[in-house]
Amino acid sequence: MVKQKIGIIKIGGAFLEDEKLLETFYSAFASMEGLKVLVHGGGKRASKLSIDLGITPQMVHGRRITDAKSLEVVTMVYAGWANKTLVAGLQGRGCNALGLSGADANLIRALKRPASDIDYGLVGDVERVDADGLSTLLNAGFTPVFCALTHDGRGQLLNTNADSIAADLAMGLSPLYEVKLVYCFEKQGVLRDVSDPESVIPRIDPDHFKTLQKEGAISEGMIPKLFNSFRALQAGVDQVYIGPVSLLSGQAPKSTQIHL
Ligand code: ADP
Repeated sequence: MVKQKIGIIKIGGAFLEDEKLLETFYSAFASMEGLKVLVHGGGKRASKLSIDLGITPQMVHGRRITDAKSLEVVTMVYAGWANKTLVAGLQGRGCNALGLSGADANLIRALKRPASDIDYGLVGDVERVDADGLSTLLNAGFTPVFCALTHDGRGQLLNTNADSIAADLAMGLSPLYEVKLVYCFEKQGVLRDVSDPESVIPRIDPDHFKTLQKEGAISEGMIPKLFNSFRALQAGVDQVYIGPVSLLSGQAPKSTQIHL
């Protein structure tokens, strides 16, 4: 049987902080043909709100330590402001967006990450995606919009990295659909030289990644993005791209395709 195609699109934090960028995203995403799912974070805004509320965000290696107070803040920002802004924006462009966290309809169950050298607190790693439940929503004509929150099934919300959620959703849906996973961010793709926007690397496989990492060409948030990309491909996801929103309309002059 020929599988239906689906796009799992993750947008980077920069989109939520820049109205012009957000506009380009809305039009590209809303006009995308076929089934689609959106995943977003909102870390920058969560840190800003924390500071406004007098709660100092605690970060280790760029990752948030999520204590009970921080979970309140990220829930307000991710499931509230960010999710509803995106849903309303997409509804305004004729896309029947449905805002969700992983707890809604039990769609994404996660396991609290055990404390090791670092205790990240109320942070979860995805354990199970309900692909059939998600499929029911897609067949009913909804476009799910996931924020970066999951739950443990015992009443606890968990902060979960949006790049990982996108990879886990793509992996969970791959037995049912032909899945394309796209990490959209503010640059044209993975760059050989971060200061040169033209230096987009068209293809990266695991060996190439190791070399680029050794050379220091890839750092920060790009490293987990690439790990998630390889993890998704290894689990049967058909295609993974990292690049600009014009990828969504198939008109990106440049972008990076990830391969095994
Ligand atoms: P997002 O919210 O878009 O997921 P991340 O910070 O997780 O943001 O990842 C994207 C960031 O990775 C870019 O904004 C850039 O600063 C950084 N980065 C590091 N190395 C590279 C590279 N080689 N090419 C492009 N971006 C890179």
